[in-house]
Amino acid sequence: MVSLLANIGIMFMAVYFCLKSGRLEKNYHHANKSSLIGCILMEVLLGTILLSFSTVILGIRYDFRVLLFCFSAKYMDWRITSSSIFLLSIIRFLWGNSEAAQVNLIVSLMLAIALPMIVELIRDRINDLAQLLILVTVALIPTIVFTNHQIADKWLVLSISIILSALNYAAIFVLHYFISDLHVLIDSASTDHLTNLKNVRLFNSDLVEMERKKSPVTVAVIDIDHFKNYNDNYGHDSGDAVLRQMAALFNERAIPHTTFYRIGGEEFGVILSHFSPSAAEAFLHELQETVSRRSFTVRGENPVSITLSVGVAHSEKGETLKKTLKRADIALYQAKESGRNKVMVSA
Ligand code: GH3
Ligand code: MG
Ligand code: MG
Repeated sequence: MVSLLANIGIMFMAVYFCLKSGRLEKNYHHANKSSLIGCILMEVLLGTILLSFSTVILGIRYDFRVLLFCFSAKYMDWRITSSSIFLLSIIRFLWGNSEAAQVNLIVSLMLAIALPMIVELIRDRINDLAQLLILVTVALIPTIVFTNHQIADKWLVLSISIILSALNYAAIFVLHYFISDLHVLIDSASTDHLTNLKNVRLFNSDLVEMERKKSPVTVAVIDIDHFKNYNDNYGHDSGDAVLRQMAALFNERAIPHTTFYRIGGEEFGVILSHFSPSAAEAFLHELQETVSRRSFTVRGENPVSITLSVGVAHSEKGETLKKTLKRADIALYQAKESGRNKVMVSA
C-alpha cells in the first residue's frame, strides 16, 4: 500500500515538474541536445525511484514505470522515451540479476520500439485519453504474459492481472485529467483573455529568463495611438474588437524568435531574440507600416485606420533587461511626443 502511494506520488510529481518546465506540450519535438540528455536522465532517475518503491507480489515486481513510459511516449520525444526505457532496463538488470530481470530486458527493448511507433500511428486520430489507454494496454501485456508464465494458478494470474490493469487505468485516468486541468490553469495564468496573446506576467518572466541565458535581445513596446478616441467614438466593445484584430495581425506577422505580449490596455510588448539590431528594427518598422496601411473593421461600423507608436531598445552588455525595457518605454514616449505613428529606437 505504501509502495503504491509512493508510486502515485512520484508520478504526480513527475507530471507537475514536466508541466512547469513546459515539457508536456503537445509536441515536444524541438528539444536541443542538452535538453534531450537532461530529460533522459530525469526519466531514468524517476524510473529508478519508482523501481525502488515497487511491490513484489508472488516474486513479481510491480510499479508504475509502465505509466511513466506511456506518458513519456505520448508527450515527449521518442528519443527520450526509448533511451530511458533502455537505460532503465539495464539498471533493472543489474539490480536483480534474476530470470525476471532478463525477461524485463527483452520486454523493455520491445516497448522502447513499440511505444513510440504506436504513438505515431494513433496521434491525431483519437483523443488524448484514448491514446494513453491504448499505450497502457500495450505496455501491460508483457507483464501479464510474464505473470501467467511465472504462476501456475490461472485464477490467481487473472485476479492479479485485473487488479494491475485496473490500477493502471485508474491512475492514467486521474493523471490525464490532472494534466488537462493544470494545462488550463497554466494557460489562463499566462494568457491575456481578450486577445489570447501572452500576458504581462509571462512578458516579465520571459525577460528574466532571457537575462539568465544572457542572450542578446531587442525589446519593443507598442502603443496604439489615440485609442481613447476610438473607444469614445465607437464604444468599448468596438475597442475590444480592434484589440483582438491587432493581436491577430501580430500573430500573422510573427516570425521565429519574435514573441508578442499584451502588457497593458492598448499596449503590447515584443521580445526579439536571435536578431541583429538592424534586422529587429526593420521587422518593427515593417510591422508599424503594415498596421498604418490596414483598415480595421468592426461589425456595423465603417472601417477605421489605426496607427502605432513603437519604442525599441537593444540589450547592452552589463545592463539588466529591466533597464532595457525602461529605455524602450522612454523611446515610446519620444515617439508619441514627436508626432506618433513611428518607431523610435533608444540611443
Ligand atoms: P496615446 O496616443 O497617447 O497613446 O493616446 P491613447 O488615447 O491611446 O492613450 P490613453 O492612455 O489616454 O488611453 C488608452 C485607452 O485605452 C484608455 C482606455 O479606455 C483604453 N483601454 C484600455 N484597456 C482597454 C480594453 O481592454 N478595451 C478597450 N476597449 N479599451 C481599453
Ligand atoms: Mg495609446
Ligand atoms: Mg497606452
